Amino acid sequence: MVIQIRKNSDEKKVESLINRIESSGLKVEKVQGFGSDCLSVIGDLTKIDLDFVKSFDIVENVKRLSEPFSLVSRKNHPLDTVIDINGIKVGNGNFSFIAGPCAVESEKQIIETAKSLKECGVKLLRGGAFKPRTSPYSFQGLGEKGIKLLLKAKAETGMSIVSEIVSERDIDLFFGVDVLQIGARNMQNFSLIKQVAKTKKPILLKRGLSATVEEWLLSAEYLLAEGATDVILCERGIRSYEPSTRATLDLSSLPFVKECTHLPIIVDPSHASGSSKYVKPLALAAVAAGADGLMIEVHNDKTSALSDGVQAVTTDEFKEISIATSKILAAIEK
Ligand code: PEP
Ligand code: MN
Repeated sequence: MVIQIRKNSDEKKVESLINRIESSGLKVEKVQGFGSDCLSVIGDLTKIDLDFVKSFDIVENVKRLSEPFSLVSRKNHPLDTVIDINGIKVGNGNFSFIAGPCAVESEKQIIETAKSLKECGVKLLRGGAFKPRTSPYSFQGLGEKGIKLLLKAKAETGMSIVSEIVSERDIDLFFGVDVLQIGARNMQNFSLIKQVAKTKKPILLKRGLSATVEEWLLSAEYLLAEGATDVILCERGIRSYEPSTRATLDLSSLPFVKECTHLPIIVDPSHASGSSKYVKPLALAAVAAGADGLMIEVHNDKTSALSDGVQAVTTDEFKEISIATSKILAAIEK
């Protein structure tokens, strides 16, 4: 971190700032510049708050030269993290699909969908029991009953279950759920994510609707700081000025995230596009860009879907995506 000191600042105030920073265990070196002096701060910068430094009236400018996170950083953990979900590996060249309906709606729906997806080779079944819907009048999910139906699908098919948790009050209900999903709307719900981290279960952390990659990675840092180790990032598109798709799929985040973190990253082309027609091209682009997996919404009878029916693909369409994905994976030798 470099701190630029205002011209003609009182030397006593500068010394007092240096003392405050050094009392946090950091090292400060004075650098004489033309016009104004700078302080170069070296050490664990998570111990100091940028805004605290800015609050000193002698400070002209502060620039962080390194990342604001450490546990998720590849610098401190050069090898890719591989997540093991009941023997299903995600990361470092291990590619996985997570597929299933947006919401669990009935026993018939989830069991039928699970069985067809299993036939396509899918091992991770998704389904929302608690749905964070934009409108309070939309279907909110079956709640506890939805979790029970997912566990039934797990028992009947042997698939592992991924489901979104929206409140820390529900943690006990998720005991049999294999991967806890933190949705886009809750990416910065820090009390929820801290409690979810404590379960030690694998966590799927979706990017917030308008979150920068740095904010997203800082949420992952919260999870790791609270003891979670198995965190999968999920790029699901962000809000932009472009209304023709539900969100704008930020594929640029993939190589960037892979460069600066060791965590696996998967892509959700369903919520990014909002339309079943666009799921396949976006899915394939994501695979080519290095995604460690895809999360795709699939419905056995999409015209009757209670949530996100427009973006759901049929099981036949899913099968096509999965065949094309294998071809891309072979082409990029993954
Ligand atoms: C979902 O996966 O069903 C969901 C609500 O996604 P997101 O949080 O990305 O909107
Ligand atoms: Mn959905």
